Amino acid sequence: MKAHDGMYTDGAWRAPAGREVIEVVNPADEQVIGAVPAGTAEDVDAAVRGARAAFPGWAATPPAARAERVAALRDALAARRDEIAETVTAELGAPLRLSQPVHADLPITVAGTYAKLAAEYPFEERVGNSTVYQEPVGVVAAITPWNYPLHQIVAKVAPALAAGCTVVLKPAEDTPLVAQLFAEAVDAAGLPAGVFNLVTGRGPVAGQALAEHEGVDLVSFTGSTAVGRRIGALAGGAVKRVALELGGKSANVILPGADLARAVNVGVANVFANSGQTCSAWTRMLVHAADYDEAVGLAATAAKKYPPGDPRDPATRLGPLVSAVQRDRVRGYIERGVAEGARLVAGGPEAPEGLTRGYWVAPTVFADVTPGMTIAQEEIFGPVLAVLRYEDEEEALRIANGTVYGLGGAVWAADEAAAVAFARRMDTGQVDINGGRFNPLAPFGGYKQSGVGRELGTHGLAEYLQPKSLQF
Ligand code: NAP
Ligand code: MG
Repeated sequence: MKAHDGMYTDGAWRAPAGREVIEVVNPADEQVIGAVPAGTAEDVDAAVRGARAAFPGWAATPPAARAERVAALRDALAARRDEIAETVTAELGAPLRLSQPVHADLPITVAGTYAKLAAEYPFEERVGNSTVYQEPVGVVAAITPWNYPLHQIVAKVAPALAAGCTVVLKPAEDTPLVAQLFAEAVDAAGLPAGVFNLVTGRGPVAGQALAEHEGVDLVSFTGSTAVGRRIGALAGGAVKRVALELGGKSANVILPGADLARAVNVGVANVFANSGQTCSAWTRMLVHAADYDEAVGLAATAAKKYPPGDPRDPATRLGPLVSAVQRDRVRGYIERGVAEGARLVAGGPEAPEGLTRGYWVAPTVFADVTPGMTIAQEEIFGPVLAVLRYEDEEEALRIANGTVYGLGGAVWAADEAAAVAFARRMDTGQVDINGGRFNPLAPFGGYKQSGVGRELGTHGLAEYLQPKSLQF
């Protein structure tokens, strides 16, 4: 798609306040594929004013009419499904075989869930002698990352619109093209002017100005824990609502008696999908001592099925990382793992063979990882799996819960009840039991430092509502 040179505010594409642009780079070949304006505080202010002005009218629009517009937005996205996939493949580097079913179809599904929920949700309830109204929070600042760029936009904007909020979006600077495509879909869906606004730009400039703008009532942020912490502090200081979707270091716990080959193969696929750039990825595989050597062998063999290559090739399963910064960061972690004594059984810090241009990292598996190592504690955000050994279930639980994070996870066991019992003791927001698949209606969000609040389904909608009680 062709990049816009303006911001989408108050229902139209408008010239930015400044002249600076952000070049968009294809991470597979380092070619510049477009440029978008680098927004300033002035652009943010104009967008927030537009959103404020549109708020009373949108908040007063009946839920069924809001539902119709969200359904139209879903349809506008669905009509451009292939273009969405190609855009995400070009600016993020995700293989097309992932971009189509995940980067395009998942957000289309999520938009559809909110069209339905907007129509069905109980926005008014009787409680004793009270009527409780669920009213929209107001103007929402949505700040999103690049790793699932359209999904993360839709997971905030669709429920916000369904709730009756108006929105200003600041997408990641690495993936602004799919955000512009999303604004075009909003425009095509016939939402009233000012209900949705897009300001492209850099985090410390446009993002910061948006998070601290006094015209914003709720900041919904997805990204790093470092930036999330600052946004949480800013919002707290201003007594604004805040939702934070941060990092993870999720555990894939394989209990004795589980189908080892399946648990390891699904686990490896989970970590290497999207080049490991998934906040809920199962980056720590926990295996019982009796199964450990076999699991390491299976993981090393599985890694060979992910040769990095051209993301546009339908056979490719592993693309590049999003940027040179991320590639260098991930390779740094691999070097750190080696230095701290972990054993490389696949991959390593060197560029994969034959790939000189682009931001590549070899699919990497570490064995003999111990819980205190940096690669067992910090979010790497690359195709790097750490396999850890445990002697009994209590130790497995200690290791699983032994990080500052708690976003996703998995448990595999011969007996489903045993897996559930273990999962209930894990300090984390989601656990997939014996390969249970992703549910776009289930609440998604973090325990501990993985975040505050939940996205998706009714829990995601409730984030954008505030109750008002009238007594009779
Ligand atoms: P990030 O800096 O936290 O970026 C997330 C979003 O916040 C982007 O839109 C970013 O803009 C914006 N931002 C940055 N600084 C800001 C500030 N001071 N005020 C307001 N907004 C600001 O994350 P990143 O640098 O892209 O990635 C770094 C690491 O974060 C990754 O390696 C990974 O560990 C983690 N991460 C986690 C997730 C997740 O889903 N939980 C997603 C992405 C990254 P710019 O794009 O202009 O920086
Ligand atoms: Mg890029």
